[in-house]
Amino acid sequence: MPEILPGVHLVEGVNPSPDFTTNVLLLKDAKGATWTLLDTGLPPGKAPTNAIPQIESYLARHGTDLSAVRNILITHLHADHTGNLKELARRTGAKVFAGREEAEYLEGRKVYTGPGMPPPDRVDIHEKLKDGDTIDLFEGLVALATPGHTPGHTSYYCPSRRVLFPGDSVFNVGGKIAVSLKEYTFSPTLAISSLRREAGLDVESVVMYHGAPVLSGGGAMLRSAAQSGYP
Ligand SMILES: [Zn+2]
Repeated sequence: MPEILPGVHLVEGVNPSPDFTTNVLLLKDAKGATWTLLDTGLPPGKAPTNAIPQIESYLARHGTDLSAVRNILITHLHADHTGNLKELARRTGAKVFAGREEAEYLEGRKVYTGPGMPPPDRVDIHEKLKDGDTIDLFEGLVALATPGHTPGHTSYYCPSRRVLFPGDSVFNVGGKIAVSLKEYTFSPTLAISSLRREAGLDVESVVMYHGAPVLSGGGAMLRSAAQSGYP
């Protein structure tokens, strides 16, 4: 396991429980022998298994190590996504990307007081993304500002492969795509408008962070989720 889609690798052994998955991803860059890490798992002490050794052993099984991770993409500030960011940024020397507004919190200029766990550490963000920025990693990605779940949440979209990495803008709840759960969401109104935008993309696969990735038919499921909204 598990290269879930060509070049999209799901790091095993980092889920807090069978009901609470944290889909830490390693993306194989199309150019060169480098990898991109997408979100970094729960912080040590909150997670039954620290993600860093699991990422290392995943890379080792592919004949490489942490030094091959040249870039780290962050969807948002919550600690289950940024828990090992400081340590991984230090150990890899990778360039760290996050949305512009999220960087205000991650770099410590603003204090996050919304729902969900705040980021555990101050971390330098090297590339502060705005909506529509293209990123020459993996097979080519576009940053989408998808505020709602957090103020500066960013999703990543690969147009050539029709894959959306929506972070926590959507969850997989019982096999269905649903807008990010209200109790963890900073602005439900913004979350719905961000989801509507994602539902307008040409998408086959939706690889969210919580719940099983949807490998096919994801576009129709996004549209249905956008229509349903919050109950
Ligand atoms: Zn979150």
